[in-house]
This record gives sequence, structure tokens and C-alpha cells, in this order.
Amino acid sequence: MTRTINTDAVTEASLGSVLSGGGCMPLLADQASAGLQVEAWLERDAWSGQRLPPTCQSSDSQVDAAVAAAQRSFADGAWRGQPKRLRREVLLRWASLIEADAARLAHLNCLETGRSLSSLLQDSLPKSVQVLRWFAELLDKLDDRAVHTGEFGADFALVRREPIGVVAAILPWNDPLVTLAWKVVPALAMGNAVIVKPSEHATLVVREALQLAHQAGVPIGCLQMLTGDGLAGSRLVQRRDVRKVAFTGSTRTAAAIGAAAHRDGLKRLSFECGGKGAFIFGRHGREPAEFAGVVARNMFYNQGQICSAPSVVHVPHEAADEVAALIGEALKNFLPDHPLQTPGVGFMVSREAVAKARAGLHELDDAVFACAVNDRHAPPRFADWSMTPTVLRGLPDSHPFWDTELFAPILLIRPYRDVAEAVDFANASKFGLAAGVWSQDIDECNELASKLVFGNVHINSWGDDPNQVPFGGVKDSGSGREKAADAFDDYSQTKSIFFRPRGAC
Ligand code: NAD
Repeated sequence: MTRTINTDAVTEASLGSVLSGGGCMPLLADQASAGLQVEAWLERDAWSGQRLPPTCQSSDSQVDAAVAAAQRSFADGAWRGQPKRLRREVLLRWASLIEADAARLAHLNCLETGRSLSSLLQDSLPKSVQVLRWFAELLDKLDDRAVHTGEFGADFALVRREPIGVVAAILPWNDPLVTLAWKVVPALAMGNAVIVKPSEHATLVVREALQLAHQAGVPIGCLQMLTGDGLAGSRLVQRRDVRKVAFTGSTRTAAAIGAAAHRDGLKRLSFECGGKGAFIFGRHGREPAEFAGVVARNMFYNQGQICSAPSVVHVPHEAADEVAALIGEALKNFLPDHPLQTPGVGFMVSREAVAKARAGLHELDDAVFACAVNDRHAPPRFADWSMTPTVLRGLPDSHPFWDTELFAPILLIRPYRDVAEAVDFANASKFGLAAGVWSQDIDECNELASKLVFGNVHINSWGDDPNQVPFGGVKDSGSGREKAADAFDDYSQTKSIFFRPRGAC
């Protein structure tokens, strides 16, 4: 459905104070620390030309203040000591406040990252509200368990789930509110004190969303935010009193966090990183036009900036021409346009990201561009900030693109003669986040799904996202699992309390 969105009213009426501020400061329980002398300001480059306030690079003393306040809040039990029923109500209230403020939050997110406003309103905002409600509603249905071993008659052990303490949640810029909800809601539900470090490219929207949490009743000491880039994040993860780091972002940053976080004591770490999604059109695949539509939508709806995008398509040799042509047609529905006005796809996150991805294309032979519409020969209208979706075919197997997360609208097609070889090629990747099988033969689906070494395998679909199912990667795509009841395990630890009946000692 095409619809024109008039966002002028949102900008002037409700974004004014956020955008006209002198600078974006951390959100700390000890506000005196938030205003400590600013060590450095990070300037923002905005696709819209509209000024975005610079971001405060959180200093060592601001990080110390955040961690100390989080520890105090955790210790005083003001949040974790509340009945689950009341914490659940607070989180549900937060969901409703985000829902009511969706237009403003989506607008801010759009201005910061270039993702289209309509995509944010239709996908990202409702999804983050659903995630919040899903975890909140589960919160008071979880029970601890008792184990009766029978070793000493009526003995039993109580296995109690307890919060971990101070949790650092480090976020990426793509889908900041969904990744925020995936981490912060189960962490708060379990009773932890959380310090969020959003991306330097998506700070304002997260700050506003966290203020709504405080309005809903989450104590500020249990939910603070530090601002800044990787330096601020690095300072946070190294603090000894941070007991858990939950990270979403690139594999490179995850490795740096892993090395830094354990310099002084041990912490729980969970990593949700990038991927190189492999989608195999099987020997028994039919309806190639439908397949092409699913590929184009999931690969190009956010300019390829999705961790689980199907960025490598494996097709039988004899079907490769047809599938490439069909994808070439389907991608025309995903050309970038003005993020505030288009009902479709917006821009990429920064000029640097565009320039980097485009530079990679410049080095290629013309022969590998599989479709007439591509960035090399038809750059888009807003060429500094966006790319035309591009399909490449015939790259040598040794080309680095096969195993590099490009995070841009660049899709690779790899014809195969033997499907087992396609699976081996996909499994040889250092990544292992999302894969897919397109086939109308249940045995082929089953066999390939079992063989693919990926955290998520989609059969005849891509990108299903129900909250009940865990999501996460293997190998360099990460180690954690988000969503589903499994997420509560990541933000809690069990304590076993042993009871022996009198006289059994
Ligand atoms: P990034 O790794 O550049 O940054 C992520 C966060 O880490 C930012 O907040 C950044 O400031 C911070 N950071 C950077 N260096 C740090 C350091 N040394 N110590 C601590 N923090 C540091 O990633 P990005 O560009 O913001 O996000 C895109 C990446 O995120 C892609 O690789 C994408 O695949 C991945 N991603 C994965 C998922 C998933 O669920 N698996 C979801 C969304 C995005």
C-alpha cells in the first residue's frame, strides 16, 4: 500500500527539544555526573541536512558514576525486590508509552539512521512493542524449581533463578529499538540493573525510549544510558563491577570486547553479530518467481543492512539465468528514496558506509553484474547516501565478498551443480547466523536443514521472527540467543539451595 506520510507536524511539535539541544548527554542516576565536564563531543552527519546534536563521549568518571549507581540500585533491591506482578505492570506500561509515541520515535530513528519512516512505523516500532509485551507477560509465569533427589529421604534442593547484577547492553544502529528490547526487557524482568550504550549513529531514539521506561516506573538507577562511540563502550565493558555484557554488533567489535572484558575478572558475555545468509534454491525448488520475491524483499528492504539478510543465493546451474532475471525484476521494488517520503526503502546509515561498499564494486569486472539495474551503472538519485540494489554472479570462489559481511544492498548468486557442494560452500563461511532452503521436497528440506551449520534455518521462507523462537548465530556470528524464554537464562544465574530433613545428617 502506498501512502504519503506527513511528518512535519511531528518534527516541529515534538522533536524540537530533542534536536535543538546543545548536545546529547548520558542518562545517569547521578545527573550531576552526567553534566561533568564533557571530555569530547562527537559531531553528527545527517542525511537530511537537519542538525543532529553532537553526542557526548562518556568519560571515565561518567562510566564510573553509572556503574556505581547501578550497583547501588541493584543492592537496594528497589526494582528486583518488587513482586514480579508489579515489575510486569511497569514493563507493560513502558510498551504502551512507546506505542503511543511511535511516530516521534520512528521519526528520530529515521533522521539518525536513514531507514525509511514508513518501514520503521510498520515494522520496527510495532516489533519492539511486541517484544516488550511478550517478555513482560511471561515474567510472572516463570517458576523456580525444587528437585527431590531422595538421597536423604525427604531432602530437596531449591533451584532459584537470581539476577546477575550490573548488565551492560551494547547496541548497534540498525534496528536500535528492537535490539534494545531484546536485551533490556529480559534483563530488567530478571531484576538486573542495566546500563545501555547505544550506537553513536542511533543515540537520540534510544535515549527517548529509555526516558519512557523511567516514566513507566523503572528506577533510573536500574536503567541508565552512556553515550559515545566504541571508546565509551570499551570503558564500560572493562569495569569489574559489570557482571554481564550483552552485545549486538560486528564480529570485529565482539572480539575486541571479549579481549577487554576479561582483563580484570570474569564476566558473562553474549554476542549477536553479523552474518552472510545463505539461501539455497534446492534441486526440488519450484516457483522461482516467488523465491526471487522473497530474496529481494529480505535482502533489500533496508539497503542490505540486516544481520540476517540472505546475501548469498545458491541456485542450480541450469536455473541460474532464470533466477537472476527474476531477482533483477523483483529488486526494482526496493530502490532507495527519500526516507521521510517513500513508502519503501530509505538510505544507508552514513556516507562512509556507502563509499566503502561502492569502492568494493568499482574493483569488479563488468561481467559479474548480473542485472541491468545495479549501483555501478545506475547510481540512485541520492547517491551519497544510498545504493542501487546490485546482484553479482560469477565471482571466483576465492573472492573475499563471499565471506565478508558487506552490510549493503549487494547480493551474490552462486550457481551449483551438486547441492551437497553448495551446502559445503555455505558451511565453509566463518559466519553462521541465517540460512534458508527453498524446496518442495520435504526430505531435501530436512536433509539440508540438518547439514547447514547456522543458528537459524528458514524453509520456504526467510526472516520469520516470532518472539517464541530463539534467535542467534554460531561461529563468528555470535554465541548468545535472544528472544524466547531462553533469553531469561542469559540474564539470570541459578542458585542451588540444599535442604536435608532433620536427622539425615
Ligand atoms: P559495531 O560493531 O560497529 O558497533 C556496535 C556497538 O559497539 C556500538 O554501540 C559501538 O559504539 C560499540 N563499540 C564499538 N567498539 C567497541 C569496543 N571496542 N568496545 C565496546 N563497544 C564498542 O556494529 P554496528 O555497525 O553498530 O552494527 C552493525 C553490525 O551489527 C553488523 O555486523 C550486524 O550484522 C550486526 N547486527 C547483528 C544482529 C544480530 O542479532 N545478530 C542484529 C543487528 C545488527
